[in-house]
Amino acid sequence: MTTVNDALREPTADGRFGQFGGMFVPETIVPACQELDREFRSAWADPGFRSELNQLLLSYAGRPSPLTRCQRLSEELGVRILLKREDLNHTGSHKINNVLGQALLTQRMGKTSIVAETGAGQHGVATATAASLFGMNCIVYMGTVDMARQELNVFRMRLLGAEVREAKSGSRTLKDAVNEAMRHWVAVADTTHYCLGSVMGPHPYPWMVREFQRIIGDEARAQCEEMLNGAMPDVVTAAVGGGSNAIGIFAGFADTDAELVGVEPAGGAAIGRQVPGIVHGSCSYLMQDEWGQVLEAESISAGLDYPGVGPEHSYLASIGRARYVSVSDDEVVEAFILLSRTEGIIPALECAHALAWVVRSKSELAGKTVLLNLSGRGDKDVDQMMEIIS
Ligand SMILES: *Cc1c(COP(=O)(O)O)cnc(C)c1O
Repeated sequence: MTTVNDALREPTADGRFGQFGGMFVPETIVPACQELDREFRSAWADPGFRSELNQLLLSYAGRPSPLTRCQRLSEELGVRILLKREDLNHTGSHKINNVLGQALLTQRMGKTSIVAETGAGQHGVATATAASLFGMNCIVYMGTVDMARQELNVFRMRLLGAEVREAKSGSRTLKDAVNEAMRHWVAVADTTHYCLGSVMGPHPYPWMVREFQRIIGDEARAQCEEMLNGAMPDVVTAAVGGGSNAIGIFAGFADTDAELVGVEPAGGAAIGRQVPGIVHGSCSYLMQDEWGQVLEAESISAGLDYPGVGPEHSYLASIGRARYVSVSDDEVVEAFILLSRTEGIIPALECAHALAWVVRSKSELAGKTVLLNLSGRGDKDVDQMMEIIS
């Protein structure tokens, strides 16, 4: 029997979380992954690296992010809701936590360039931001289709000094951008670090990105203790794309009795299918057809359009430590409007998924305390919402 305390630990030496994870990459990429594993391990054990990163998170990203008690929303739903405000970070989401960590690691490794993938452009913008701060070259791969859909983020990246390259293969979206970024990385790994944007990909990425995002959970844990006089929330919930903001907040509560709930879009519900496969270098649940071909994810929120999910989420689901649910686009639109109207906070469409689940489950959750990770702000989504609502 797996106890809750076994969850959210270090993976095995070969990068496994139970049957999930691993390093399923072409031989040519293995040395780069192994080097990254060694370098991250040594950096993470080095108090000097930790304190330098903390200083950056404080003075540049604006941490700690506050915990907000939602009075009007709580009254409306009959559920006590606390928001972890990752929307207030520099660049408007939790993504900055990960990219500052990886940029600092790049510098420590003596590398001068960063390559990254991006889907909706949020991770690309965060990476370009960190590269600018550190004075590094930055190349971001983005699918042709996504470049057309997210013109403004393409412009932002270029403004920040990054080169945006079109990923023209396959469906010309996020999964193709990951493939091309990896291909690029292998050829130039001696000078270049691949800055992956979520808790996915081959080992050590799922573990490393989780460690860079656990600041969310660690802060929220201390903030809850203070706000709730030592008590813990009954439920901790977050939206799941690749799963980095969710695993970051879950990490702070793994050893409590809090129920952990990840919310996927109905059109991108990888975990719900319970079929493991291999995509982008690791074994995890993913959306695939009967032949094992990866399917296209589709949701109202471009940031959640990923057919797979990080391997540790598959593990947490398989041992029953976390529960994964999905919500429809209509429910998300309703939740987006609700938070705007009751609390004066316009959320990113991604985290509106988590709120949509709370709204749907309000009778089951009546009287409970729910901690929700508000992963980003909604400024980027208002154009799209304007079209949908009118
Ligand atoms: C990118 C993004 C997500 C999805 O990524 P995860 O790795 O699942 O966290 C969620 N929310 C916001 C605001 C994002 O920008």
